[in-house]
Amino acid sequence: MKADADKSIPDAQGLPRTNLLGKSESVLAKFFDGLGEKPFRARQVLQWIHQRNASRFDEMTDLSRNLREQLCEIASIELPEVVSEKKSSDGTVKWLFESGAGQAVETVFIPEPGRGTLCISSQVGCAMDCSFCATGAQGFNRNLDVNEIIGQVTHANRHLPIRANGEPAVTNVVFMGMGEPLANYRNVLPALDLLLSDYAYGLSRRRITVSTSGIVPHIEKLGDDCNVSLAVSLHAPNDELRDQLVPINRLHRIAELLDACWRYAAKRANRFITFEYVMLRDVNDSIQDADELAGLLRNRPAKVNLIPFNPFPGNDFERSRSKTIEAFQSRLRGHGIVSTTRRTRGDDIDAACGQLAGKVRDRMRVRLGEKGKKAARV
Ligand code: SAH
Ligand code: SF4
Repeated sequence: MKADADKSIPDAQGLPRTNLLGKSESVLAKFFDGLGEKPFRARQVLQWIHQRNASRFDEMTDLSRNLREQLCEIASIELPEVVSEKKSSDGTVKWLFESGAGQAVETVFIPEPGRGTLCISSQVGCAMDCSFCATGAQGFNRNLDVNEIIGQVTHANRHLPIRANGEPAVTNVVFMGMGEPLANYRNVLPALDLLLSDYAYGLSRRRITVSTSGIVPHIEKLGDDCNVSLAVSLHAPNDELRDQLVPINRLHRIAELLDACWRYAAKRANRFITFEYVMLRDVNDSIQDADELAGLLRNRPAKVNLIPFNPFPGNDFERSRSKTIEAFQSRLRGHGIVSTTRRTRGDDIDAACGQLAGKVRDRMRVRLGEKGKKAARV
């Protein structure tokens, strides 16, 4: 996956080819208009790429031969380059995609009865600097472009076996890999468009979740623009503690964040917002914390997803004890708040939440030697 993935293969004249992988219907329609073709070509090509897994234009037999030849000259369908693939004993699959400068991003597939969830990345690193997150510790390198974001889904569907009902393996997509999706709004929005399009992935809004640390203006925008399911990384029941754990809180306080959440939920006919809450031993896991959290969310369209902290090297936090997590959860339930605890998946391949970046950097250093080591150090 290269920084300029859109234009990496030159055509016969040495001019850059346009990578059609991440182009939405409206962008493709303009592209075909420029070639003097009808707009419906966009739908045909979307279906070939995203539903019929075509990797070459000469496979697209319902396009005229002339158009196929022209596309071969000026365009490409380029997927991100895979650095490694690992399979966990629990069926979880993790891919590492090359993202230039000795860095990589991760994608994780989590199979469950009745669904297959793909956890995708939106940035190389992250600028938000949450104190318990390995991606945050890595710092920010760059935004993924649309090809690189949607390419994670394309790759997974092409490489995983289809489901028993004949449908593609990926039934749900969550933006919970590396990066803050709402800080890369420009590229995440067209990727969402492709996930929702009936001519590409055709997923319902319910099956797509954007997870954010709380960039309030973009929560508002997302509500207007495409209104997929929203998860918010809350992690603390008051501003004093959240300032420490999730630094963006110093810019957008909890009250402001929650107001935006309730407005978002109202736009979706009161569908629930998921609040993620990482369980950090003796930091945010007391019964008083549960009571305070319930006070923020009671009688609101909210559910809480408790995430046992996943440790990584160079970080002093510890995971809350199982008994503490159970007590926290039943306290929330006692307050009438729907609450679940996330089961850790893919532990043996370091695919659990927040564990992604550290080990990636280590592996890239081994692969790339001293040059990669420098580049990977942010
Ligand atoms: N940047 C977005 C989405 C990616 S992180 C966000 O923060 O919401 C996906 C989830 O994993 C977030 O809730 C994040 O806070 C959580 N997470 C990060 N590091 C973690 C860790 N070490 N253990 C458990 N969860 C973690
Ligand atoms: Fe970024 Fe999310 Fe990690 Fe915070 S938790 S540093 S927003 S990836």
